[in-house]
Amino acid sequence: MTVHHTRMLILGSGPAGLSAAIYAARAGMNPIVVQGIQPGGQLTTTTDVENYPGFADVIQGPWLMEQMQAQAEHVGTRMVWDTVTGVDLTRRPFRLNGDGGDVYEGDVLVIATGAQAKWLGIDSEEAMKGKGVSACATCDGFFYRGKKVAVIGGGNTAVEEALYLTNHSPDVTLIHRRDSLRAERILQERLHAHPGITVLWNREVAGFVDGGGTAGLVGLDLRDTTTGETSRLATDGAFVAIGHHPATELFRGHVDLDDDGYIPVQPGTTRTSVPGVFACGDVADKVYRQAVTAAGTGCMAALDAERFLAAAEHESDREAMREPLREKENAEASW
Ligand code: NAP
Repeated sequence: MTVHHTRMLILGSGPAGLSAAIYAARAGMNPIVVQGIQPGGQLTTTTDVENYPGFADVIQGPWLMEQMQAQAEHVGTRMVWDTVTGVDLTRRPFRLNGDGGDVYEGDVLVIATGAQAKWLGIDSEEAMKGKGVSACATCDGFFYRGKKVAVIGGGNTAVEEALYLTNHSPDVTLIHRRDSLRAERILQERLHAHPGITVLWNREVAGFVDGGGTAGLVGLDLRDTTTGETSRLATDGAFVAIGHHPATELFRGHVDLDDDGYIPVQPGTTRTSVPGVFACGDVADKVYRQAVTAAGTGCMAALDAERFLAAAEHESDREAMREPLREKENAEASW
């Protein structure tokens, strides 16, 4: 068993974790980033990225993550690949246990384990991802300018995505498996008032229709959930918006989670319920979920963590300075 110790331990290697690492390394903290089963995070499964600032040309998600990792390593980050199976946040240094037996210790811990979009899980879905099927309208809606699009789901995300897509598309259809939405009332009102959005109630997607060749998605096969009747809806793009899974199972019982499993942070900071443990990126964000917001909160986490350490070290210095004084006082008292 090898114990790896660092002042700042970062779990997760998406834009949040790597941005935290860049800031921590440049502050001389020699961070360790433990990357799990999907190094680079969600961006490594996307293709074209057009909304990350600084690049006038379309860039590729995996390339962007390689650049972030190279930058993090260049300034002094140590990257390790391991699957963390256990945590101890009851005392500092915090400990993460790797499945091969290695232990990672950090005076502070930054959790940047991200989230995964939920998918419908039907056969044609995997084949059509990136060819007309997406789980992020903010990321990919722009590619469907002037085209017909559909959103699947009935929660806040689905309704927000449908409303967002009206910026690009004159014809948006929201497909929901029941006859009432889960989304907040105000969003429902906006949705129903929008002339460019049609809602198809009681429908589930039975298949994504491939137009063949370079055509990509051309339609959705739908099934009525009350009658079983089938129909086909012509569409150029489909956005699956049925929720996300934040990657927080490891931390359940160790740090506070909200009802959806996300890590709540104190507003305006990345502080979690455990002093010295910080959370950034999608694991703490159910609203924005963008690479650039993840990178931004990663930077915040590194700065919050640095300040926490500085305050803790200042406190222990003061404690150390008090010690000889106390000894002197005790010596004088015993005279
Ligand atoms: P959600 O509230 O869990 O809603 C998921 C929707 O997808 C539900 O309508 C559900 O249908 C549907 N669905 C789930 N599995 C499905 C399947 N296999 N096939 C078809 N439909 C399926 O997820 P969310 O909208 O992503 O929101 C998650 C959390 O983030 C919520 O707490 C939400 O309030 C919050 N959020 C907040 C904001 C904001 O504050 N602006 C924005 C986005 C999200 P049923 O209704 O039938 O279950």
